[in-house]
Parts: sequence; structure tokens; C-alpha cells
Amino acid sequence: MKYVIFIPDGSSDLPLDEINGQTPLKVANTPNIDKLAKAGYGGLTNNVPEGYTPGSDVANMSIFGYNPADYYTGRGPLEAGSVGIETTPCDVIFRCNTIFEKNGKMEDFNAGHITTEEADVLMKGLNRYFNDKYPGFKGKFYTGISYRHLFVYSCDNVEDAEILANLKTMPPHDISGENLVDNLFGDCELAREIQNIMFESKEFLKTQEINQKREIPANMVWLWGQGVTPKLLNFKEKYGLDAAVITGVDLLKGIGVFAGMEIIDVPGATGFFDTDYEAKGKYGIEALKRNDVLFIHIEAPDEAGHAQLLDEKVKAIEQIDKFIVGPILDSLEGQDYRAAILPDHPTPIDIGTHTRDDVPIIMYASDMEGDDCVAFDEVSVLNGSITKKEGYKLMQRLIDGDF
Ligand SMILES: [Zn+2]
Repeated sequence: MKYVIFIPDGSSDLPLDEINGQTPLKVANTPNIDKLAKAGYGGLTNNVPEGYTPGSDVANMSIFGYNPADYYTGRGPLEAGSVGIETTPCDVIFRCNTIFEKNGKMEDFNAGHITTEEADVLMKGLNRYFNDKYPGFKGKFYTGISYRHLFVYSCDNVEDAEILANLKTMPPHDISGENLVDNLFGDCELAREIQNIMFESKEFLKTQEINQKREIPANMVWLWGQGVTPKLLNFKEKYGLDAAVITGVDLLKGIGVFAGMEIIDVPGATGFFDTDYEAKGKYGIEALKRNDVLFIHIEAPDEAGHAQLLDEKVKAIEQIDKFIVGPILDSLEGQDYRAAILPDHPTPIDIGTHTRDDVPIIMYASDMEGDDCVAFDEVSVLNGSITKKEGYKLMQRLIDGDF
């Protein structure tokens, strides 16, 4: 039995006036997904447990079959996993933004979308600066992409790591224009240590030629989203199946790495509108020859939601149908297989960011009859018979035929 899970990120939406109260999923021309819906089962699900922000990290962890309440330790650690940074249980991994601070305020959380090349010079310089000034410095900066980097702090013991991991830190994109000192994360010794590193980074960064040239300088680092390395039970041990993941997004690769999945890098998979859909479909077909399970994630509809571009969102859904869902389902013709299609969370055009609402889902089994649902959109799935359960149960439900 083969299993394929299609994840058009952020594709579900709210009714839009421009299209007479319909949604992008409803108006998109998707013959292949419709076929799956007619032969399968429809309903609603939710991948974001109560108490979590609806991020792609938490939501996709659910879809991959892991309850975030048991396994989610933060965003930083998942990104570290995707780039192969080795950590110990004493390490706390932070997201590290290069920001523009002005008069003590968060002026720009991405320092004018600094380039990776410039940021790399600054990250390496910060390592030299702190190590020279504080021999035995317990932190290390790692260059990521553009303004998105990582910082790993090695605690003396796991108890300290636990304390540091549990401090409430602020996403820099949520505190634009606010005073930084109003958004610090605590008064314990460990919190002060990390905060001192953030503020001291200014001393080094202001001396850098790159920053003197930049209109929007990266004159401080902001550390957040921290956690210890998650201990995901190996997917094969958990479900008895080999799995692969295709995605253009680091966070999702990280989940795959920790779950022991095969990570398939597709040339031209950008995580944006311009992603190479056709290549993703082809690599998906190959991946299913080697694996029992394929998670295939496409970021483009989410990006269109954030950019509030209706046409781009509809186009992304149509491309997914034509170049990914169609060819992969064709390749499985004549075999026993089960499939699901669902967004991780909605990214409504009118809101421009993620919401925690339920998402539509279609589940299909080649050996089961299907229900009355005939299309994959927010309203049509209500004709289906799938009962809503926690999102992380999806994989087990597919295996059990528990629709
Ligand atoms: Zn997402």
C-alpha cells in the first residue's frame, strides 16, 4: 500500500467579494483533485492544537503524524535540523534575526532584507568578536538565508537548557515599532545572559563596513523562537512505513530530518510562486517508488495569501492540480493506495496571515467506496462524512481507513 499526502500550504480561505463570495479553492479549475474528491471522502480537520499559534511548523508536524503537544519544542530547533547542525540535549537553539534597531525600537525586523552574503560576513564576525572578548563563549551563530539565522547556546546542564527553552521570547515581526526593552524575556540569570548578547551585538555590528554602506543597517541581532532539539519518534518505528518529504521550506525539512524521513531536494523548488511544479511532481513519482509514504508540500498558495494576491493563489492551486496531483495519481493507477489533500492552516487573502480555523480535507482509498463529497473546498467538504478529529491522527486514520 502506498500513501501520498498533498499539502497546498495556506490554500483554504474565506469567502471573497471579488469572486461573489466564493473562495480560491472553489473557483480554481482542479480536475484531478475533483476526481479524488468524487471517489473519496470529505470533511474538516484542524492541525493547530489549542494554545499554539497557527504556524506552518506546528500545523505540519500534525500532518506528519506527530502531536505537537508531545513533540514541538520551537521553531529554531526544526530549522537547525534542516541544515544539519549537530546539537546536544544541553543546547538551546534560537532563531536569530539581523534587525535594524533605532532609538531602542524595532525599526525593521529584517534589516531591509539583507542579503545572505552580507549577513554571512556579520555572523562570522560576531563569532570572532564574542570568542575573542569572552574566551569559552558558550554561543555560536550560524548563517541561514537573508535575515533568518540561528544561534545555539550551550548550557552547562539539561536543567538550564530546559529553563532557557521555556522563556517567552518575542517574534521580531510581531513587535515592529515597539521598544525593545518592553519585549525582553525575563529576569533570571540565563535570560539576562542572552539579552546581553543581543545588546552587545550592537557594539560589533556598528563597526562593520557593510552596515555603514547599507541604507537599512543590520545593527543588532534579535534572538527568539528557541527550544531544545525535539525527540521525534522515528516515523518508521511509529507507523512501520518508510516516508519521504518534498518541500521548499526549511522548517518542514527539519521535521522530516528528526522523523528519519528521506528528504528529497527538488531542483527549482523555491518555496515561492515561481516554484517548479512539474519537477516536484516528477520527483514525487520517483519518491513513491522507493517509499511507502510521501508528504508533498507546496508553499506557493500560502505566499499568495500573505501577499494578498487572489489571482496568484488560484493559479498556484491550479498548477498543483495539473503538475503534482494529476501526474502522481496517474502513476499510482492500478496499485492499492491511499491519499489525502489538505492545507496545514488557512491563509485568507483578506487577512494576509494564518488563521487557526478548520481546514477542508479529502481522504481517498483505492479499496473503499467514498461518500457524497464531490469537490475539495471549504463548503463542498461539508457534504462529506469524515468526522473531525485531531489533525495529528491523520496518518493513523489513513492506515486504518478510519475516514
Ligand atoms: Zn503553512
